[in-house]
Amino acid sequence: MNVYVITQPTVVSIPVAGGGRFPVGRIFCVGRNYAAHAREMGHDPDREAPFFFCKPADAVVTAGADMPYPSMTHDLHHEMELVVGLASGGSDIPLDEAMSHVYGYAAGLDMTRRDLQAEAKKAGRPWDMAKGFDHSAPIGLMVPASEVADPSQGLIELKVNGEVRQSSDLSFMIWSIPEIIAYLSKLVKLKAGDLIFTGTPEGVAAAERGDVLEGTVAGVGTVKTTLV
Ligand code: MN
Repeated sequence: MNVYVITQPTVVSIPVAGGGRFPVGRIFCVGRNYAAHAREMGHDPDREAPFFFCKPADAVVTAGADMPYPSMTHDLHHEMELVVGLASGGSDIPLDEAMSHVYGYAAGLDMTRRDLQAEAKKAGRPWDMAKGFDHSAPIGLMVPASEVADPSQGLIELKVNGEVRQSSDLSFMIWSIPEIIAYLSKLVKLKAGDLIFTGTPEGVAAAERGDVLEGTVAGVGTVKTTLV
């Protein structure tokens, strides 16, 4: 007999390259992790401690599915990012053990209602409705870490309708993947199934209905979605 008093929420999962699915627990996102993006958003990049925001797991859009243009915005921005999936977790993870918790990597988009984010910043309010809305996290195949040669460097690029909009290199991250994991594990106990969006490089801009977004992370893979 089912003990739940309402319909049980579905487990969200991402297809894994080579078979199987990666179940998604929580989605953590790093803000301002590339200096040139921090500058384009009007901030002076320095090595202040990384900061985080979250999206709900069911914001994930997989397998190249369409992304419905969200409500309540007229300025939907793309943020192309490398996504890390955790196989295990813990609290206060030492820097030199951080990478041992990684299951794999994926290319992802941190879609953002930039107008609502600007209002929230101005009012000193949370970013949740600017970042954590339905379908706000398109993501490509999860690639096991054993098949990724070096996630600390390589091209990260986004094309919109075939034209390059964002192009940078993973090596320009202010906080590295192990540093992000170690720092985040001081704030929360990390768990298997957690995803971490590691921040976007410069070139963020508005996307419109009908646009085809195609992102690539060298050595990892691609993410594709069409705004409808
Ligand atoms: Mn982002």
